[in-house]
Amino acid sequence: MADQCLFCRIVRREIPATLVAETEDCVAFRDINPQAPVHVLVVPRQHIASLNDATDAHLVGRLAIVAAEIAEREGIADAGYRTVINTNGDAGQTVFHIHLHLLGGRRLGWPPG
Ligand code: 5GP
Ligand code: ZN
Repeated sequence: MADQCLFCRIVRREIPATLVAETEDCVAFRDINPQAPVHVLVVPRQHIASLNDATDAHLVGRLAIVAAEIAEREGIADAGYRTVINTNGDAGQTVFHIHLHLLGGRRLGWPPG
């Protein structure tokens, strides 16, 4: 499963991506189809299919902390940004390796579609 997983392959550097942060437990890279001027995906190195499968609260929290650090570095922390974890079909999850979207650099609509 993790063998063929797209984001595991990015973590292993088998598929290229524009990395913006690497920590012991997480990797962050730019979304290939950005929905905002800043659109970064933060993923754990460990393969976890979705939030439904997550049990490690520290690791899930790390995704948010790393996103906040990137927001600061990208210069959008004060203006504001959004962090989202899509889970399963109704939320439109398409890659089944848990990832937190960091979106910012423009005014974001609410509620999301
Ligand atoms: P989801 O819809 O599962 O929440 O988000 C998956 C995200 O992964 C999408 O925003 C999509 O654009 C992004 N994505 C899909 N394939 C690739 C890829 O090969 N490289 C990168 N950097 N992003 C990808
Ligand atoms: Zn994976």
